Amino acid sequence: MATGSQLYLPEIPGLKEHSFNVDQLHEAVTLDNHLRRLADLESTVARNTVVVIGGGFTGIETALEIPQRLRTIFGNDQKTRVVVIEQSSEIGPTLGAGPRPLIQEAFTECGVEIMSSTKVKSISSDGLITDAGVSVPSNTVIWAGGPGAQSLAQKIEGEHDRFGRVYADQYLRAQGGSSVYVTGDVAMVAADDKGNITAMSCQHALSLGRVSGYNAAPELVGLPMHPYSQSKYVTCLDLGTWGAVDTEGWGREICMERKEAKELKQTINTQWIYPPEADRDAAFAVAAPGYVIVP
Ligand SMILES: Cc1cc2nc3c(=O)[nH]c(=O)nc-3n(C[C@H](O)[C@H](O)[C@H](O)COP(=O)(O)OP(=O)(O)OC[C@H]3O[C@@H](n4cnc5c(N)ncnc54)[C@H](O)[C@@H]3O)c2cc1C
Repeated sequence: MATGSQLYLPEIPGLKEHSFNVDQLHEAVTLDNHLRRLADLESTVARNTVVVIGGGFTGIETALEIPQRLRTIFGNDQKTRVVVIEQSSEIGPTLGAGPRPLIQEAFTECGVEIMSSTKVKSISSDGLITDAGVSVPSNTVIWAGGPGAQSLAQKIEGEHDRFGRVYADQYLRAQGGSSVYVTGDVAMVAADDKGNITAMSCQHALSLGRVSGYNAAPELVGLPMHPYSQSKYVTCLDLGTWGAVDTEGWGREICMERKEAKELKQTINTQWIYPPEADRDAAFAVAAPGYVIVP
């Protein structure tokens, strides 16, 4: 099962009808078209304000991209406001303390506000209301509340984690006793023997895909299987015009920042995450279960 994830959509009044998101490509295109059409509207506080709900990986990257988009659409003289609303007390709660000072620096430099310890109560076409009763006028509310495993994963027998992922053994067989192999965002599996578990990320999905696909075949003909492990973990977070921050290890130690990290991010997004050319030898070479993109 390689069905990936879907956007988590809780029961917030107006969320489904009045918010945008960047989960699927067509949804990101809908948001982009909406942003461009804002230029045709009369200039109001709601038109000039973009709110991103969720200050995790996706919310941070999305919010820090918006100021430059608005400058392109409205010109440099228009007063605009970009706000991230996050229920935790800190921005990027799962990213840890390491990169946070740089994330905060990027928010300040890009002029993006953070409303932390705040939950959204309801959304309408004119904006939203927080649980403290604060009204934020906005024609553009973007939901970045995080992913959950695709709902089909619930049909697989056995234990699931809080994201709906299926617990799997080191060969990526679902632990519930079925003959299903799980991979990518659907798999909840140990990444190493130090207690770290896979994240819902391309980095893990690429290796999990190689190993699960490989293992499903030898089991049928009685050949040895390949155990999954992935001790190296890196994070490269885009921070808009500020640049990016690249960290290494589960403790997220900073390796690169600003322009240098941004160049790496662009290499990842434009080269590394793409499948190889439609050439049999090239495809088999990168599909080998022990293949490592960058050692
Ligand atoms: C906005 C956004 C930004 C991200 N940025 C990063 C990043 O910077 N770095 C990073 O490492 N990760 C990032 N991720 C996470 C990364 O995209 C996922 O972890 C990765 O794509 C998971 O791969 P996958 O193959 O498991 O699932 P997917 O790539 O989601 O593929 C699953 C496929 O299964 C199909 N499918 C689903 N259900 C069915 C069904 N019932 N029948 C048939 N087909 C079905 C889907 O259409 C989809 O094509 C980001 C994710 C999002 C949404």
